[in-house]
Amino acid sequence: MAAPQASASDRQNFPPLLMQQLFAIKATGLSDDYAYHQLEHLTENIGPRQTGSPQATAAAEYVAGELRKLGMEVQLQPVSVLHWVRGVESAALVEYSGMVPNTTQKIVLTALGGSTSTPADGLTADVVTVNSFDELSALGREKVAGKIVFFNELFDKQKAAAGMAFAAYGEAVRYRASGPKAAAGLGAVAALVRSVGNADYRLPHTGFSIPAGIPAAAVTAEDADLIAHLALQGKVRMHLTLTSQQLPNETSYNVIADLKGSEHPEQVVVVSGHLDSWDLGTGAIDDGAGVVIAMETAEILQRLNLRPARTLRVIAWMDEETGGSGSRAYSAQYSGEFANCVAAIESDSGAAHPLGFDVKALPAAVEMLRPVQAVLQSVGATMFQPSNYAPGADITPMSEAGVPAFGIMQDGRNYFNYHHSAADTLDKVVPAELKENAAAMAVLAYAVANMKGALPR
Ligand SMILES: [Zn+2]
Repeated sequence: MAAPQASASDRQNFPPLLMQQLFAIKATGLSDDYAYHQLEHLTENIGPRQTGSPQATAAAEYVAGELRKLGMEVQLQPVSVLHWVRGVESAALVEYSGMVPNTTQKIVLTALGGSTSTPADGLTADVVTVNSFDELSALGREKVAGKIVFFNELFDKQKAAAGMAFAAYGEAVRYRASGPKAAAGLGAVAALVRSVGNADYRLPHTGFSIPAGIPAAAVTAEDADLIAHLALQGKVRMHLTLTSQQLPNETSYNVIADLKGSEHPEQVVVVSGHLDSWDLGTGAIDDGAGVVIAMETAEILQRLNLRPARTLRVIAWMDEETGGSGSRAYSAQYSGEFANCVAAIESDSGAAHPLGFDVKALPAAVEMLRPVQAVLQSVGATMFQPSNYAPGADITPMSEAGVPAFGIMQDGRNYFNYHHSAADTLDKVVPAELKENAAAMAVLAYAVANMKGALPR
């Protein structure tokens, strides 16, 4: 991209002092270990932060305490959350073409969030393999009732390798989200989906599935191929044990922390990530990284002794993964103030190198941010990619109310190797890339907080 010429409006909105501050914020972000140390604590000391778990609530209390240390006004906003627990999960093929008598084949799988339980000693049923919702409908109740329905939708690895991992995810995740419900509607006794992800290490990827009243699980890509191949040769029968349970709702928390604006304290810039994770890994890339990046925006300002002109609000969202109750609770309390929210930023696409931002805002707002591109040029985070939908699940209500919304656009080529699996752990985060993300979020947030005019909407 050619270096843009500073226009009159650039100079008015970004006077030389603000530009100097933005360059200083970037340099601090690129050299600051704060976010990484916070991520170490969240992932290694606290661990998995599944919605409803004691770790998730402890993480909220920990983040609140850390943000208080930065001098912020911190609120723990209560959120009533679902509390689903995984239990035993095991499966084996017990009848298939060519089976050696008295043997079985193990199937590696993991329950989907919202799954109900099989009997404690499992259930045994024939497996019906389908590749689409249309194929399922075509089979009809007669061929589905009493069976285990298996959705074998492939994750498009070529799309992911070409940098369109989220498009690949979107295509496949429909089956994880809605497949069990569709199968239950035709009388299936359980539903399986092929894991939504692009790694080949026999790792199952969990995730939320619309409660269907039947047991539901994701099988590894390798075992999905096995089942599909054997199904071509004849009957496949499975013994499946999942003892997931829906416990009573728990009270957990959004962390909401303000650094009050010096000139327009009523106007708010939100920086955020979600604190809850799945239980299999330790939620490093999804989405401990987003939380610590947002925390670091506040830490950089404190370290540099910079006061935002508009209020900087750090939010660590609870329960992005199982229904968004944290986001809804925030809307219930703050929607009357969304008109004063000048921007909402979320990071929830991992911790890899940032390419820029997905943006749901008026073109004029993006145009106004050209000086930010210049500041972030050396990081490479210069793209402002228009998006038709909110670039972050938790900031969707704000975006839909017209708040300019930004999601950091991380390099997603490897994200779905680990996402929602046991391999989402701290070692997957490259410290230098986490720093780039922290710098990108802090620069954008301070720019929006301190430019003369608010972003148009
Ligand atoms: Zn996430």
